[in-house]
Amino acid sequence: MHDVDKIYRNGKFYTMEKEGEFAEAVAVRDGRFVFVGSDEEAARLTAGESIDLGGEAVLPGMTDTHMHLVMDCEARQRVDLRYVSSIDEIVEQMKEKDRMLEEGRWAQGTGLHIERLKEGRFPDRYELDRISKDRPVLVQTYCGHTFMINSKALELAGIRKGFLPPVDGLVDFDEKGEPTGIVREGIYNDLLLPVMGPILPTYESKKQALTEEVMECAKAGLTCVSTYTSYSGDPLEYLHQYKELEEERKLPIRVILNSSAPLARTIGAVTGIGNDKIMLGAKKLFSDGSLSSRSAALLEEYQDEPGNYGVLIHDQEEMNREVQEAYQYGMEVSIHAIGDRAMEMVITAIENAVRHCKEKQRFRIIHAMLPSKGHIERMKKLPVILDVQPVFLRNWIDLCEERIGRERAKNFLPIRSYMDAGLIVTGGSDAPVEEINPFLGIECAVTRSVPGKKEKKSLGVEESISVFQAVSMFTRNAAYCTRQEKNRGTISVGKYADFIVLDQDIFAVPSEDIHKTGIRKTVVGGNIVYEREK
Ligand SMILES: [Zn+2]
Repeated sequence: MHDVDKIYRNGKFYTMEKEGEFAEAVAVRDGRFVFVGSDEEAARLTAGESIDLGGEAVLPGMTDTHMHLVMDCEARQRVDLRYVSSIDEIVEQMKEKDRMLEEGRWAQGTGLHIERLKEGRFPDRYELDRISKDRPVLVQTYCGHTFMINSKALELAGIRKGFLPPVDGLVDFDEKGEPTGIVREGIYNDLLLPVMGPILPTYESKKQALTEEVMECAKAGLTCVSTYTSYSGDPLEYLHQYKELEEERKLPIRVILNSSAPLARTIGAVTGIGNDKIMLGAKKLFSDGSLSSRSAALLEEYQDEPGNYGVLIHDQEEMNREVQEAYQYGMEVSIHAIGDRAMEMVITAIENAVRHCKEKQRFRIIHAMLPSKGHIERMKKLPVILDVQPVFLRNWIDLCEERIGRERAKNFLPIRSYMDAGLIVTGGSDAPVEEINPFLGIECAVTRSVPGKKEKKSLGVEESISVFQAVSMFTRNAAYCTRQEKNRGTISVGKYADFIVLDQDIFAVPSEDIHKTGIRKTVVGGNIVYEREK
């Protein structure tokens, strides 16, 4: 018999308990840390295995607090257009994929940023016809609100000259009345999806994609993800798949499943139910849309669309009822709120729930991009957690002023102000909106500028935080928001032995190099679940 199962030694284990604190070695028994200390002390323990980390820096495993695992699986089946800079490049990359597709399948690309295209506009049907004339082609923007399709796809969807969209503006026409191939919002679900079919059509294809996806997470240094179902996905189908993966030992990371479905009422499930690998999280609610599509609810009009104040999805009474009801059924709520008008409604609903509920509850606000004056003061008095995506800064540095003007842009994603007020702020990617790599977000939170870009433009540098604070967002704070602070988030005796071995010390490198951090090993419950080839 050994004292412990495994010892990992000769590392620089940043515990994340205190800034600057580190240990040289850890010991693991039954999946948890039983020792954190020096190499010398570790040498006195007998272990089944002893692993030398070669002096590399180690952090607690990262948690992504807001992402969409299944949607990211689907996005990976499409051509990644996040970094293309011209319409020619779109055509080229999609053509290459086209050669590998089976007959009848649509050629699909996703992740397009209009502001990254040198043409400054979307490609039209004729440009997409260069990819294929016989095969339907679909390209969507990173935010999923605008779609571009070729002539074949228009024909299959029944969109032609004289077509009357259900709402004005959902389909673009040229001066001759012909559809240009640019369509928006509900046209996708109503007209395209039925003729296109799901991108992962069978149970097996979904499961295979999910298997690859969870491995990608482990590779990126994530040991836990808090994932949200999409509107279309059946939450129960995926629940079976996660369970099967776990039984087949193909689930390297921990997953927390959050859903918009009223699970508490329908199946009696409550937040926290599950095991150490698969757990039920919060009930998701929406309060507004997105800033990119000008549907985030604002107190003042959009600078680039006068008269538009965005969209609120519920009225105050409904929101109060939803929040309070979920709470009473034992479900934590996380509420999507981007604009200041949406945040106003959500804060009011939480104040109301807190007044009516005796027990201590935690409420999560997702995105929290544009608080107005007074919101931080009010949130300070509430058990509120803010799940933000610092990596969004890299898109908004240019676009923010355009949408809301310079004055309001100063207040965009004020992470430092939130933290100074004592609010718990966590980090996520909202994948597939952004890449799952947490180090991109950590760098953005520290520098408030675009990782890897030479010309240094930034947004709200007063809101920069330290590397320690930024790492905390993805470790200790992330554990807290999923009610797991006793089990995860720091390298401490008693917690799950979840950690990542890095190829550079992120506390020592210049902040603009943080995004280059690579993962040598990912360890979950004391076991190496990913190891980079030498
Ligand atoms: Zn999201």
